[in-house]
Amino acid sequence: MRGCNNMCSFCIVPFTRGTERSRGIDSIVAEVQRLSDQGIREVTLLGQNVNSYRDTSQSDAFEPAGYGSDLSRGFSTIYRRKEGGRRFAELLHCVAQVDPEMRVRFTSPHPKDFPDELLHAIRDNPNVCRNIHLPLQSGSSSCLERMRRGYTREAFLELAQHIREVIPDVTFSTDVIAGFCGETEAEHQDTVSAMRLVGFDTAFMFAYSMRERTHAHRRLQDDVPPDVKGRRLAEIIDTFHETARARNQRFVGTRGLVLYEGTSRKRGQHFGRDDYGHKVFLDVPAGMALRPGDYVHVRVDAATSGSLAASAVERTTLGAYYRCHPQPAAGAAV
Ligand code: SF4
Repeated sequence: MRGCNNMCSFCIVPFTRGTERSRGIDSIVAEVQRLSDQGIREVTLLGQNVNSYRDTSQSDAFEPAGYGSDLSRGFSTIYRRKEGGRRFAELLHCVAQVDPEMRVRFTSPHPKDFPDELLHAIRDNPNVCRNIHLPLQSGSSSCLERMRRGYTREAFLELAQHIREVIPDVTFSTDVIAGFCGETEAEHQDTVSAMRLVGFDTAFMFAYSMRERTHAHRRLQDDVPPDVKGRRLAEIIDTFHETARARNQRFVGTRGLVLYEGTSRKRGQHFGRDDYGHKVFLDVPAGMALRPGDYVHVRVDAATSGSLAASAVERTTLGAYYRCHPQPAAGAAV
């Protein structure tokens, strides 16, 4: 899908990409089937607001009766939502079913569009990766209001907790903005504490920079001095690395499934990605020949905030690996 209806006050996307349009499920599934036939091992469903997807090619009825009912709890929009049509949970499930040996990822979602049907589609399809991008932007409710994000700090934290209950081994990536218009020190500290509470595994962190044509450009002041923005961004980055480094230690000594990508240009090291979005550097025993697109059963030996190091145990398939190492059930402690 393309476009976005949200109009967050800092963002230029709705002006450059227009309003939301979704491609029909059947044509996407047919394309994924063609890619599978060619031996492609991973697809990513893309959209500026991908989980707001709505295929109305077979019915474009507007049904105000259920208005807003598929929003995550505690989330709202500033625009009038359509009902009806085929939603992202159905698309994800249909794509995952095309080829159980093909990994499926999706980006970039908005936290407002995570109904339980979508969480169940992720949980119930072992080939859908367990990494969810959950853009926080700010951990302060008052700052989120100025950003026009449609949720509070509490609603975001509750959603992250709910997702972890349904998919216990999920990892989260996020986007964070330091020094948005009017951001106070207390609001910044709310962002730092929200990052600690959620524990993100990957983060894209930026100092705010105003864009012309946005709501913020017309109505707000870019009034946080550059040195303060820089210091807050450094604190946010330090917090991320500290929590991610600590969280990644839980993988050390565990088994995992890596989709092999090749050797790194810089150091010539074998690498791939696991289901949680980590880059994994591999120690490959002599005699084990790997080709890009192979699944590898690995044992994790070490972890940093940004990557894992692992020993390759054997070549495998996605189905065979998860038959021997089932993913944790809802509510399990991970
Ligand atoms: S930040 Fe994302 S949700 Fe908000 S307007 Fe931009 S693209 Fe849309």
